Amino acid sequence: MERPEISIEFAPELHVFVAGARRTGRSPLLTDGTSTLGHVVESLGIPLTEVGTLVVDGSPVRPAHIPVDGEVVTVDAVARPQELPGPTRFLLDVHLGTLARRLRLLGVDAAYESVDIGDAALSTRSAAEQRVMLTRDRGLLRRRELWAGAYIYSHRPPEQLKDVLARFAPPLRPWTRCTACNGDLRPADKATLHEQLHDGTERSYDVFAQCTSCAQVYWRGAHHARLESIVEEALQLTAAAAARS
Ligand SMILES: [Zn+2]
Repeated sequence: MERPEISIEFAPELHVFVAGARRTGRSPLLTDGTSTLGHVVESLGIPLTEVGTLVVDGSPVRPAHIPVDGEVVTVDAVARPQELPGPTRFLLDVHLGTLARRLRLLGVDAAYESVDIGDAALSTRSAAEQRVMLTRDRGLLRRRELWAGAYIYSHRPPEQLKDVLARFAPPLRPWTRCTACNGDLRPADKATLHEQLHDGTERSYDVFAQCTSCAQVYWRGAHHARLESIVEEALQLTAAAAARS
């Protein structure tokens, strides 16, 4: 049987995943006549989590569509902000610890384990807790158990944070979550913390919060200016995005 030949084009956001020859507009592709379009796209290296509408000869199709000879296919990037079928909460892989702490700083629910528990355990947890898996590992994003997933495009935490905020527009509640363990913070009375504070800290600060999960104590200390600037920038980005929509 002749293998069907289609013509395929990718949105610029997806060019990072495909070979150079497929980044310059339409290119021909032989398919096997039985694989779905979703499988064809994935086999070219693109995680389906990053794919938006699939268009065949001008009309949207489902990923289960089986391409036939002569079809012209356009692969769009996922829409931003991306709608989720549940609350916006995340699970980050072992390489994204800085991003996890920054999301928590903003009050975004960001589960993270500092040891590598493996792709199977991560995808099971994503499904069980309905968390968006954030990773730079394309293989992990292929796992069917994932509740939802997103590829992290940058190596740099500031860019990673902007990317996640722009893509999912999570509600921000800065200074309400423990950056160490993701637990909720509650205001704490200085008198009750006496045994946990160094004398200098107790003398210098008055506003304290404590994690309801791990009991970590927070106060406005030496790192506060840097953290404040991360929070301010995130709030401005979110306000600008809301004004545009
Ligand atoms: Zn904690």
